[in-house]
Amino acid sequence: MGLLDGKQGLIVGVANERSYAFHIAEALTQHGATCAYAHLPGEKNERRTGRAVEKITPNPWLCPCDASSDDDLDALFERYKKDFPRLDFLVHSIAFADRDWLQPGKFCVTPRKAYLDAIDISAYTLSAMAGRAKDQMAANGGGSIMAMSYYGSEKVVPGYNVMGVAKAALEATSRYLAWELGAFNIRVNTISGGYLRTLASSAVGGVDTMEEMARTKGPLRRGVEGSDVGKTAVYLASELGSGVTGENIYVDCGMNILGI
Ligand code: NAD
Repeated sequence: MGLLDGKQGLIVGVANERSYAFHIAEALTQHGATCAYAHLPGEKNERRTGRAVEKITPNPWLCPCDASSDDDLDALFERYKKDFPRLDFLVHSIAFADRDWLQPGKFCVTPRKAYLDAIDISAYTLSAMAGRAKDQMAANGGGSIMAMSYYGSEKVVPGYNVMGVAKAALEATSRYLAWELGAFNIRVNTISGGYLRTLASSAVGGVDTMEEMARTKGPLRRGVEGSDVGKTAVYLASELGSGVTGENIYVDCGMNILGI
């Protein structure tokens, strides 16, 4: 028997098989959950996401959604509700910042629009999705919402720049949502993942040494794997995490404890 037998939910953020969201979906599915997927609009994006998740979910439910559009968000949650009776979990695993400003030395010249777009897509959308998920989750007794964060929210990671600001906003957003939605037994948490080579992380300048740092100086002497985060997602989505909300859980092989 799986920890998530009978549970259904929505995963936002699978771009390909390296995406954190892919590893989360894989782990949730292994434990019995049914996953539906949102992807960026466009045929190419649909094909790319579909090709990846078909390995986990045969004939996957796919829906286009640019999270910066309220209309797209409305359409996503309406379509999901029509096709699935339950919404037990929601995975927010998306972020965006114009890579031109993700370089050491570029933070203080980041234009207003680039700064606000990063916060909009990487942080505000958690609140926008949670608000749209609330009624369906509450109707079945509650649920679990989780979002992916990074330690650059708390400490300076040169080059992470405006994305660090967006992750700080994301973590605070998660805590405020945890309080407000806790009244409906909806738990909201962030997972602070370690560095993983993905499309999104390749946009950040100056992170080439992260993997080696983890291997040589990290507590577990290895870099994080997607499956490490997947297992924590299972814990958060299942009854094992029933008393956990408003938390930021590090899944970074211990890198955050280092003072060097
Ligand atoms: P990824 O590139 O595989 O995933 C990023 C996703 O964001 C993609 O699926 C992309 O389509 C989506 N996205 C971007 N703009 C969007 C928009 N406007 N609307 C809808 N979707 C949009 O990279 P990833 O590393 O798996 O990133 C997933 C999450 O994990 C992000 O929040 C990222 O900041 C976080 N994270 C990544 C690392 C890492 O080292 N890779 C570490 C910690 C946290």
